[in-house]
Amino acid sequence: MLVDSHVHLDMRQFAKDRGDVIKRALSAGVEEMLGIGYDPRSIDETINLSEEYEQLYAAVGIHPHDAEKWNDDLEEKIKKALFRKKVLAVGEIGLDYYRDLSPRHIQREIFKKQIAIAVYFGKPIIVHCRESFGDVIEILKQEGAEEVGGIFHAFQGGVEEAEKIFDLGFLVGIGGTVTYKNSRLPETVERLPSSSFVLETDCPYLTPVPYRGKRNEPSYVKLVGEKVAKIKGVTLDDIERATEANYRRLLHAEKRPPASISYVIKNNLYINATNFCTNDCRFCPRRKRDRELYGYNLNLLVEPEIDEIIVSAQGLLENRDFDEIVFCGYGEPTVRLDVILEVAKALKKYGIALRLNTNGQGNMINRRDIVPRLEKYFNTVSVSLNSFSRDSYLDLCRPDAGAKAYDSVLDFLGRAAGSKMKCIATAVDFPGLDMNKCREAAEGIPGVEFYVRRYQIDPPQIPRA
Ligand code: SF4
Repeated sequence: MLVDSHVHLDMRQFAKDRGDVIKRALSAGVEEMLGIGYDPRSIDETINLSEEYEQLYAAVGIHPHDAEKWNDDLEEKIKKALFRKKVLAVGEIGLDYYRDLSPRHIQREIFKKQIAIAVYFGKPIIVHCRESFGDVIEILKQEGAEEVGGIFHAFQGGVEEAEKIFDLGFLVGIGGTVTYKNSRLPETVERLPSSSFVLETDCPYLTPVPYRGKRNEPSYVKLVGEKVAKIKGVTLDDIERATEANYRRLLHAEKRPPASISYVIKNNLYINATNFCTNDCRFCPRRKRDRELYGYNLNLLVEPEIDEIIVSAQGLLENRDFDEIVFCGYGEPTVRLDVILEVAKALKKYGIALRLNTNGQGNMINRRDIVPRLEKYFNTVSVSLNSFSRDSYLDLCRPDAGAKAYDSVLDFLGRAAGSKMKCIATAVDFPGLDMNKCREAAEGIPGVEFYVRRYQIDPPQIPRA
């Protein structure tokens, strides 16, 4: 399901056909919209619309352009609105040093006041930030906004800005600008973990391609989702699942779903057999409490039994033809070798190619050559190499076994490449890691293909989840 986390349907641009606009949004699969009240008139109208349309919720706040209009009555109005069931957030509030329509010192003062209100009511904050990033981050920190989190709406920054935002437990809102030809946003989106962003239109503004220059509307959030899916090499379904989960955790304080033993991304069925690993890679999401991936919770509290895994996978296999079944979670599958082989044997009969994603330490973990057993069932083995020397492996992957782990991975790669299985070595383009050297190390082993995976920055810890 699509969610448009930032709409201005109260505006005059929608006066004549608001009902049709909302119908079009529903037909496009948009099942929830967050209307943003930004001044006294807009607050009233957005709340009225949220009462009229089931799918429309509201946020209330005073935009930095109108900071000078702040008075006690307005403060009271916002506080009263926050008691309403469908008012989910405070916003949009922030600082706008681009248009400077209110004096900057007043913008800062009113921003602080509204953060305090959000924290008092336990509501997330919808942030407007234009040419004021440093001050916005500083004020959010000073005022304890981490307690409630929120969304940096219409985010257009780079990785460094995203990291600062995620440190505060805030998400970023990705809108139509991601579709613009010269936007640098796609580069940033490549690096964003799936649990860190929501989709928005900011309609009637920031219309995505191919409608750029015309009025924006919530149904176009699908175009934004499609573009993000393309950038990240997944499907629109994956982006919808992830962004809906992120939105619901923040705005509706929804709990995480139960852990997934099997899950679907793109047209692959994934098997999540363990969270245990013999490495502690610097970039691994396993280190985070969240362990979310495209809306799935991969945090296994208990390791699933063979039957549980088979039944879980079969439930998904009944309804769909998959391209591949991939044994891959946030853990090393070969620590449960007998389990994954039994599951692979049971799933082999579906005639779908099987792939094992591994850290390549299976022979060392199991104290024997496991390749002959793997090649009975698996068509492909994909090994996380992530290095080109013992030292670089020790530094980035931090193996329990120390320096000998790297030798073991190379030995495994050589044996796997000499088996019936297709053998791939992968590396995450972690900052500072020399990809050319990793490629040389991988391709120096006859029969091994090399593949680069995108490094993703650390996700935010959503405070309300
Ligand atoms: S090998 Fe994979 S599962 Fe293990 S710590 Fe590294 S990235 Fe995480």
